[in-house]
Amino acid sequence: MTAEKTPRHAKLARAIELARSAREASYSPYSDFPMGAAVIGTHDEEILGALVENVSLGLAMCSERVALFNAVTQRIVPDVLALCSQRTDDGLTFPCGACLQVALEVAGNDLTVVAVDLDGDHEVLTLSELLPRAPHRHTAADHFSGAENPGDSEV
Ligand SMILES: [Zn+2]
Repeated sequence: MTAEKTPRHAKLARAIELARSAREASYSPYSDFPMGAAVIGTHDEEILGALVENVSLGLAMCSERVALFNAVTQRIVPDVLALCSQRTDDGLTFPCGACLQVALEVAGNDLTVVAVDLDGDHEVLTLSELLPRAPHRHTAADHFSGAENPGDSEV
């Protein structure tokens, strides 16, 4: 794996802090369920994402995907994805299935996923623990490095 500049506990703490901060930008007048996310890259890059809703409800975009798509745009390989929101049915709120599938494509199975509530209480899991049997063909990080040509391989 890539050498890390920051100790793991500090990286997770920073991701939590950023996700809590990103939540303040959430545009969520329809659900009233503000959500914020942060990606920290393998080289400690920092990306924020906020939930963005729309009067045409299906156009809403989760905070996690906003951050993950931005990571791809900047060719940043996500190492940690943190999500901050209120609890759901008294449990920590983890990314939805759509965001997990996108995260798998962008970052791969080893991505660290952190769910954070409004008090900063959190739980850390890997993406493979949250989405153990999802279809997985390519990873954007491999694409950036030229390690893989998506047009040449089979499922
Ligand atoms: Zn989602």
